[in-house]
Amino acid sequence: MIDLEAARSLVMGSVRALEPRVVPTTSVHGLVLAVAVVAGEAVPPFANTAMDGYAVRAADTATAPVELRVVDEIPAGKAPTIAVGVGEAIRIFTGAPVPSGADAIVMVERTERVGADAVRIAVAARVGDHIRFAGGDVEPGQVVFESGTTLRAAHLGVLASLDVHEITVYPKPRVGVLSTGDELVERGPLRVGQIRDSNRPMLLAMVRDAGCEAIDLGSAHDDEAFITERIVAGLDSCDALVTSGAVSVGDYDFVKVAIEKLAAARGGDYTWSQVAIKPAKPLAFGVIGGVPIFGLPGNPVSSSVSFEMFARPALRSLAGDPRPTRPIVAAVADAAFTRRADGKIHLDRVSVDVDAEGRYRARRSGFQASNVLSGMANANGLAIVPDGDGVAVDETVMVMLI
Ligand code: AMP
Ligand code: MG
Repeated sequence: MIDLEAARSLVMGSVRALEPRVVPTTSVHGLVLAVAVVAGEAVPPFANTAMDGYAVRAADTATAPVELRVVDEIPAGKAPTIAVGVGEAIRIFTGAPVPSGADAIVMVERTERVGADAVRIAVAARVGDHIRFAGGDVEPGQVVFESGTTLRAAHLGVLASLDVHEITVYPKPRVGVLSTGDELVERGPLRVGQIRDSNRPMLLAMVRDAGCEAIDLGSAHDDEAFITERIVAGLDSCDALVTSGAVSVGDYDFVKVAIEKLAAARGGDYTWSQVAIKPAKPLAFGVIGGVPIFGLPGNPVSSSVSFEMFARPALRSLAGDPRPTRPIVAAVADAAFTRRADGKIHLDRVSVDVDAEGRYRARRSGFQASNVLSGMANANGLAIVPDGDGVAVDETVMVMLI
C-alpha cells in the first residue's frame, strides 16, 4: 500500500495545464486566465457622480444653507455643455459626467428646489463629495487580474468595462467518462444480477462540477477488447479519461489490463496502486499519449471518493488552476468518529455546518459503506479520520469541503 499523499503526488506530478488559447470572453466563464490582464483604459472613464443631486462649487456652499442658481441638467449618458460658475449649480443624475467648474455633488436629499431656476443647499459640501474620479476603480496600465485567476461573473463584468473581448485562457478540459460492468443497465426493470449504472451520471456531473466538459463514453461490458476500444476512442477525443469499475484484483478487472497494455503500446506510464485509504483503495492511473486516465473503483462511494481525491485536483490542474485542491477545515466532531486501526486513513462522508460561534461542526452523513451512495449524496464534506481509534465527540477532525 502507498499512502494518500504519495498517491496524490504521483498523480499531480504527471499532469500539467492544457495549452492556453485565445477565446472570446463570451465563453470564458469558469475558465482560468493564462495571462495577466492589464488595463488599457481607465475605469470609470470620466469623473462622474455617485448620487442624484446638484453639481456645485464646494466653496459656494460653505455658508449653507445657501441658494444657488440652477443653470442646466445632466442625465446619465449626456455630456455636459456648460460649466458651473460661481453661485451656480447643475442638476445631475447618478453616472453623469461631473461638469467643469464643479468640485462636489450635493445629494438631492440635502436640497430643496426653489422655483424653476434655484435650489437651496442645506449643508456645506466638501471638495470631492460623491464624485467617482476617472481611474478610481482601475488605472490604465494596472494589472487587474493575475494569471491563474478563475474567471467568475464579476471578472467578466470588469473585462467588459475594459473593452476586452478576447482573452488567453486555459481551455476547458474535455473529460470522457466510461463505466464498465456486465451487470449494468441504464434504466428500467432489472433481471436477477443486474443493477443500474449510477456511477456514470454521477461522474459526468462531478466532471462538470470540476469545470470540465463531460463526454459520455457509455458503458462497456466486461470484455477486454471492447473496453480497450472504448478507452482508445476516449484517448483520441479527450484531454482526460475517467472510468469506473474493473480495477481490483478480480478476473474481470479488464480496465486495469487495458490501461496497462495501452500504456505499453502507445508510450505512456501506468501504475496500479493500493492506496491506504478507505474507501477507494485501488487506483489505476496512467498517462497515455499525454492523456491522463483515472481507473476508479466500481463501488459508487469509492468511485466518488477516488474522483475527489485524485481525479478532481488533476482535472483542475489541466484547467490551469494553480490551487487545484478543495479547502480543508478543522471541525468539531458532533458525534464520535469510531473506527479501528487498519493502517488506512478513513474518508468519512460528513455533513458540515457552521455553529453560532462560527465553528465548523461535522457528523457522519448516514451509514458508511462503500456501496451506500446516499450517504455521499447527503454529504458536503469528507472527514479525514487518521489511522487509530477514531475521533471522540467534541475533538477536532479535519474535513475537506466538497
Ligand atoms: P468493480 O470495481 O467493477 O469490481 O465493481 C465493484 C462494485 O461496484 C460491484 O458491486 C459493482 O456492481 C458495482 N459497480 C460497478 N460499476 C458500477 C456502476 N457504474 N454503477 C453502480 N455500481 C457499480
Ligand atoms: Mg466490475
